[in-house]
Amino acid sequence: MRVGIPHAGNIYIPLRTIFKELGTELVVPPPSTRRTLDLGVRYAPEGTCLPFKLTLGNLIEACELGADSVLQAGGIGICRLSYYAKVQKQILHDLGYDIEMLTFDVSQNKLVGLLQLIKRVSNNSPWSKIISAFHFGLAKLAALDNIEKVIHKVRAVELEKGTANKIFKESIKAIDELSEHAALKKITTEYIEKLGQMAKDDRADPLKVGIIGEIFVVLDPFSNMDLEVELGKLGVEVKRSLFFSQWTKFSLFLNSLGIDEWKRVHKAAMPYLKRDVGGDGWESVGEKVLHAKEYDGIIHVAPFTCMPETVAQNIMPSTKEDIPVLTILCDEQMAKPGMLTRLEAFVDLLKFRRRRPKLTSGTRGNRENLSWH
Ligand code: SF4
Repeated sequence: MRVGIPHAGNIYIPLRTIFKELGTELVVPPPSTRRTLDLGVRYAPEGTCLPFKLTLGNLIEACELGADSVLQAGGIGICRLSYYAKVQKQILHDLGYDIEMLTFDVSQNKLVGLLQLIKRVSNNSPWSKIISAFHFGLAKLAALDNIEKVIHKVRAVELEKGTANKIFKESIKAIDELSEHAALKKITTEYIEKLGQMAKDDRADPLKVGIIGEIFVVLDPFSNMDLEVELGKLGVEVKRSLFFSQWTKFSLFLNSLGIDEWKRVHKAAMPYLKRDVGGDGWESVGEKVLHAKEYDGIIHVAPFTCMPETVAQNIMPSTKEDIPVLTILCDEQMAKPGMLTRLEAFVDLLKFRRRRPKLTSGTRGNRENLSWH
């Protein structure tokens, strides 16, 4: 079997590790480019969300490289994700790729379904080998996310802009290529120490901006046009709760044990939204409410036409928690200069807002209900 996968941030790294350990060939398409997106846009139904188009482009590129089966998330969610695998399979067949669509349910049977799928594609490998490979893959994911959390802090205060990114890229490569589980901790520590030793502006008190929204566009730098890197260049520290390692921990393990790790976020959203609306919409509202006092501002990243995030976007201006929110809608029409202009204006606004209480002491009450979209 030659299994093709779509991209979503660094998710190819744990997948490559798991498949390699089990001796199954994985076809990782080239990193997403304009061509990938153009392919997806050309063959996707008009009006589908960006993750559909982009992952379709990835799967076409994987088929071009000889994949005979492709992997896509599925399930019975209440947004378009539940149609992804079925529709993409049909499109790939129409294009002449006689592939098998391998899908795993991200709404029910998550862990069991995923492990059963891995067992199948690995030609019935023993469970002990599967668990060990899975464990190694997830450990790499956690290591990458731990380094990225440090990167978020360092980018904002590094004296030589771009150094943290360079180290991050090196760490991604090193962790991707690592074949010994035992060495992972040492490599992770080394890179975190390297980041700690970088020249930084120790007097800086960077703005803290939370990134919330739909998981794919939040975690896929191609989709959000390197939003976090650009914020780092503007001296902003990124705060984000969404990480693939956390998602897998919460959704695959704790949820299977009946532990709801999103309870705190859902509770915060309750006064404004009382139920799941699909995707990450409920969480987006909760995150805004929860972090309103901790962050200087929030950037809400959402694919254009994404139903759950559209619901969240429309609720946010009416929450009583006062924090500026900039919504960035991602689609194939989005251009980087436009996004940068909006980021710069937003950051200026946040700087002004930080200074303002000192300039106009006693007037804070006038601003509590404002949101910026
Ligand atoms: S959450 Fe939004 S972007 Fe993601 S699959 Fe659902 S509709 Fe599409």
